[in-house]
Amino acid sequence: MYSVTDRRVHLAACPSYEESLVNKAVAECMDRFAMAKELAGKRVLIKANLLSAYKPERAATTHPAVVAAVVRYAKAAGAASVVIADSPGGIFTRQALEHLYRVTGMEKAAKDTGAELNFDVGGEEKQGFLMADYLKQGEVIINVAKLKTHTFARMTAAVKNNYGTIPGLTKARYHAKLPDREGFARMLCDLCDAVSPALSLIDGIIGMESKGPAGGDPKFAGVLIAACNPHCADLVAAEVIQMDKKRVPTLVEAKKRGYVPDSMAEIKFSGANLASVRTKFVPPPYVRKMPLLSLVPGPVKTAILKALEPYPVVTEKCIGCAKCAESCPKQTIEIVNRKAVIHYQNCIQCFCCQEMCAPKAILLKRLSPWAKRRQA
Ligand code: SF4
Ligand code: SF4
Repeated sequence: MYSVTDRRVHLAACPSYEESLVNKAVAECMDRFAMAKELAGKRVLIKANLLSAYKPERAATTHPAVVAAVVRYAKAAGAASVVIADSPGGIFTRQALEHLYRVTGMEKAAKDTGAELNFDVGGEEKQGFLMADYLKQGEVIINVAKLKTHTFARMTAAVKNNYGTIPGLTKARYHAKLPDREGFARMLCDLCDAVSPALSLIDGIIGMESKGPAGGDPKFAGVLIAACNPHCADLVAAEVIQMDKKRVPTLVEAKKRGYVPDSMAEIKFSGANLASVRTKFVPPPYVRKMPLLSLVPGPVKTAILKALEPYPVVTEKCIGCAKCAESCPKQTIEIVNRKAVIHYQNCIQCFCCQEMCAPKAILLKRLSPWAKRRQA
């Protein structure tokens, strides 16, 4: 069960999304944490990463084969019910969910396994958050995340996946209130405590590198990562993709709180050898190290880093669908002549617009003050 002091992490190698291989790898992860006993007779909720209506091949969402394997395991363990849920970016309506489930492969995964799909789009205040009502459908929550780089959060895996328990466009409010990475990471750690998933399982069979969580490229890592402590799962995930852990704000915050150990040597590994599944993922843009910056005093360093942050730039690929405008926490995007126009004076560089842009029409670029004024 959820525990921030648990140091166990299981690695299950899995070379593809072929059903029998995924079933075996998922069962291995679940057995390691004696989940059959936890699930028997319980209402189980699978919180997948369903960022937006992207096909599984894009590697932006949890693969349906992994979700289906978790359902099969829970059913075989005697779960009373199994529900698949997430609140994606953008609008949160029954119609949007129907489309989301169809495109991401969840509709078929549910049909093949007898799971239910969540259509409850409500939410209520709980532990300082507005949390999705769908959480009430699970006595046991299994957090089935996706392994990706992330332009704002640097990496998204187990901890960040809990953000989808905030219903619909309410998510934008948290971005607006917490525009800096550190504050946002503190909120994510608090939210993870509030959700308390019994097990976190990261789909890293094919993850996403570079401009994640939606605009990057699929990257094979061939592994599932499982832990009762989502922070330790993420620590190992960062090690697998060779991401600098000091640049992942949720891991920095987890370390301050004592949720992760000081050294990897304290992780109690089981399953595949870590070295056998380590794969270099291209980091998100502008995460590269700048050694000379360590000589610069704090406030100046912050100003330099801010100036080096990219801005979203709309390209010719824009089809005017307005998904970016719907999800912008500062409401600083308008659609003019069927093209998105960003008014940069209010932009907080959260990159939610890029996440929601299915045609990948938004690039990230550093802009001079003059260029920002010209485009505003
Ligand atoms: S930038 Fe992308 S999300 Fe925004 S309107 Fe254009 S195509 Fe749609
Ligand atoms: S324009 Fe994009 S990056 Fe800027 S605040 Fe809106 S969603 Fe965030």
